[in-house]
Formats: sequence, structure tokens, C-alpha cells
Amino acid sequence: MASPLDLAHYIRSIPDFPKKGINFRDITTLLSDGPAFRECIDQLAAKLGHLGATKVVCAEARGFIFGAALAYKLGIGFVPVRKPGKLPARTISVTYALEYGTDTLHMHADALAAGERVIVLDDLLATGGTCRAILQMILMQHAIPVGVGFLIELDALGGRAKLIEGLACSPLIDS
Ligand code: 5GP
Repeated sequence: MASPLDLAHYIRSIPDFPKKGINFRDITTLLSDGPAFRECIDQLAAKLGHLGATKVVCAEARGFIFGAALAYKLGIGFVPVRKPGKLPARTISVTYALEYGTDTLHMHADALAAGERVIVLDDLLATGGTCRAILQMILMQHAIPVGVGFLIELDALGGRAKLIEGLACSPLIDS
């Protein structure tokens, strides 16, 4: 059997993007490599597939790329989380603090059923604010978060502590 690809090798770091002092992890180099992108989705499916989720919830924009592929692979539904003014039907929303200012994310109010098992997927876990906001909206709909997956977890920022205690958290790459 072929050994799994080292996915970290396909991510590049761009210094001072989008502003000075930030070392941005660029995942477009992974996306543009067919076998690496497929391996990434296969690894996410292996880590999250057994949780019995019927939906994957993802924030725009990079989360959509991984979430849609994972939903297809697992045969489960995909729920988009978007910036204000993008979703057409009635929404719920959560506003959360950034380093400077706030951000707001929306989800359709009828996206999830009460008691439904749900996973959250994003490309990267940094401070945890985005994922926490998504988890809050899942709980507002009385659905059950059963796990979160990331391509990359930036350990040093401690984002995992902002999530629900004990929730299965599966990054593919620690950095
Ligand atoms: P957090 O809310 O955990 O601080 O930030 C995570 C969110 O910001 C994710 O939705 C992710 O897409 C984006 N993000 C923050 N830093 C980076 C980065 O260095 N690379 C990429 N690809 N996304 C990032």
C-alpha cells in the first residue's frame, strides 16, 4: 500500500499577509495538486466519517472547498455559513470578537434539525473564534456537534480551548 502523502509539504507560508507580522498558511498549493487534495479529503473522511454526522457545516470561503468535497465523499449534507447579506432565507447569526473589531457569521435558520449530528470543517484553526461561532449556531438550532476537523491547527494560538470541551478535534497538520 502506498504511504500517505505528507500534506504539510503542500502548504506554503506567505510572510506579512494580509498584514505585517502575519505568516499566512496558503493552501492553494495543496488544492492545485490533484493527488494531495484527494489525500487530504480521504484523511478527513477517515478521521470524521465514523462520527455518524448527517451534515458538515463550513464557513466561507476556504471552508467550502474542503467541506463540499468531504460531504460528497461521506454522502452527507453541506451547510454554508456566510458573511452578512449572502444567504437568501431567514438566518441566525453570531457576532464574535477579532483582534481589532468584530465579525458576524450567518446560517439559515432551518439548516439543521433538532438532534441532528453535525461536524464542522475549516481549512485552519487559529484563535478558534470562527469555529466557536459556528458551534454556537449549531447549538442554537438544537443540533449536536460531534466533531470538528481542520487541515491545519496553529497550536500556539490555543484555539482548541475556545471550542466545546471534550469535542473530537481532528487537525491533519499541526504547526
Ligand atoms: P480563527 O477564527 O480560528 O482565528 O481563524 C480561522 C479562520 O481564519 C479560518 O476560517 C481560516 O480560513 C482563516 N485563517 C486565519 N489564518 C489563516 C491562515 O494563515 N491561512 C489560511 N488558509 N486561513 C487562515
